[in-house]
Amino acid sequence: MNLKTGPYMPRLVGQDWQKPLGKIVCVGRNYAEHAAELNNPVPDQPLLFMKPSTAAVSLGGSLRLPADRGPVHYETELALLIGKPLSKATSDEVLPAIAGVGLALDLTLRELQSQLKQKGHPWELAKAWDGACPLTDFVPARQVEDWQELELSLTINGEEKQRGKASQMLTPIPELLSYISQHFTLQPGDLVITGTPAGVGELASGDQLKLQLTGLLTSKTSIL
Ligand code: ZN
Repeated sequence: MNLKTGPYMPRLVGQDWQKPLGKIVCVGRNYAEHAAELNNPVPDQPLLFMKPSTAAVSLGGSLRLPADRGPVHYETELALLIGKPLSKATSDEVLPAIAGVGLALDLTLRELQSQLKQKGHPWELAKAWDGACPLTDFVPARQVEDWQELELSLTINGEEKQRGKASQMLTPIPELLSYISQHFTLQPGDLVITGTPAGVGELASGDQLKLQLTGLLTSKTSIL
C-alpha cells in the first residue's frame, strides 16, 4: 500500500502560497475542433465534471502511467488557481479571484471513457484516478495582461501536438467561472481546468513532453 498521501500543495511562483489543492473542476468540449475530433457534439452550455485533489501530481520530472488499463491520452489545458471564494458570481467579478495560471494534463483512460459514455455512466473511473491531473507551477495572475491571449502548447519528442488560445474557447474564462460558481462554490485552492484544444493522443513510455504557456512558463516531463 502506498501511504504517501499528504495534500497536494500548488506552487505559485514567487509567492508564499499555503493552501492545499481543493477540488478540480474540469470543462469538457470547450474548443470546437477538439469536440469534432472525438465526434462529440458541441454543448450549448459548459460540460462540467470534477477530479478529486488526489488526482493531482507535479508535472516536473517524470510521470508514471497506470499499467494495464488501456491507452492513456493527454489533454493539455489552461489551469486557473482560485484565490478567493466565488459563489454565484457574475462574469465581471471573477477575474480578481484568480490567484494564478498554469497548465494541467487532463489524463484520460480513453477506451474506458468511451465505454462509460456508451453506458451513460459518469467518467470518474477514466479521469479521476490518482495521478490523472499532472500540474505545472502557477504564475501569479497579475502577470497576465490579456486573459483572451493566453496560449498553451504541447510538444512530444520535439513535435508540436497541441496549440490553443483562450480566445478559441467556446465559453471564455470569465463566463466559465461565473457559470461554474452558479453550481459549485469555488474556494481558495480550488482549480478550474478549462478544456483542451485539438490534437489529443496517446502517451507512450519514453515520451518527452514540453508544455508551454506562451511567455509565462515552460515545463518538461518524461513518461516512465
Ligand atoms: Zn479535458
